[in-house]
Amino acid sequence: HIVVGVLSVQGSFREHLDHLNVLFSDMNSAPEYSHYQFSARKVKQPNDLDGLSGIILVGGESTTMSLLLQHSGLFGPLAQLIQSGKIGVWGTCAGLILIANQVTNTKVDLGDCKFRVLGGLDVSIERNSFGRQVDSFTQLLSFQGSRVTSFECVFIRAPVVSGILSEKPSVGTKSSVVAEVFEANHHPVEVLSQVEKDGKTLIVAVRQGHILGTSFHPELVPNYAFHKWFVDEFVLKRSIDA
Ligand code: GLN
Repeated sequence: HIVVGVLSVQGSFREHLDHLNVLFSDMNSAPEYSHYQFSARKVKQPNDLDGLSGIILVGGESTTMSLLLQHSGLFGPLAQLIQSGKIGVWGTCAGLILIANQVTNTKVDLGDCKFRVLGGLDVSIERNSFGRQVDSFTQLLSFQGSRVTSFECVFIRAPVVSGILSEKPSVGTKSSVVAEVFEANHHPVEVLSQVEKDGKTLIVAVRQGHILGTSFHPELVPNYAFHKWFVDEFVLKRSIDA
């Protein structure tokens, strides 16, 4: 049984659950998936994480989500699960902000609570990076290493990947053993898609091993290709390998 969780504390979780439910009703009757039974689950509290094979962190408002995660007791166990590498993880829009190891512009007042991110994806994120006058737009994009092409991407006050943090230790300085161990345990961040805006090239989709990060809202278009790719590539492949 393959269960994919959708973080459901705030934001567009209903739309993601609807997408997964439509997709899973197809997959559950398809001969090529006859060995599996798929289902989607709302994640609102720590025990909802039990037995998941994948999780989607949805779009919405990242500071609100961060607060709600801290209050619900989900923050610690969810951060641990993401970093364990045991399940497929997809953060999209506000969800991408939450799974990043660094966020550059987070000047928000949350009272006694701090804006904290779960981390896991070794990138730096800039929030609301498309400027106020172009808060929202759509663009057709394709993704490196995936069969998803010409996907209509909806950007809503979207974040972008402003930097990739992980770097290989410089070989030859101390010992090549250090470099080898790093190599074996570390997946590089791969850029999957970029958009051109005002003469700048902005990274809007990346992957690092079991983690997928995207800036747009694939749950807002009636196209299930991106969700299917996440399930095939990040959830199912990992469960087979494990
Ligand atoms: N601007 C939002 C934030 O910073 C993200 C936008 C979205 O998820 N559509 O959290």
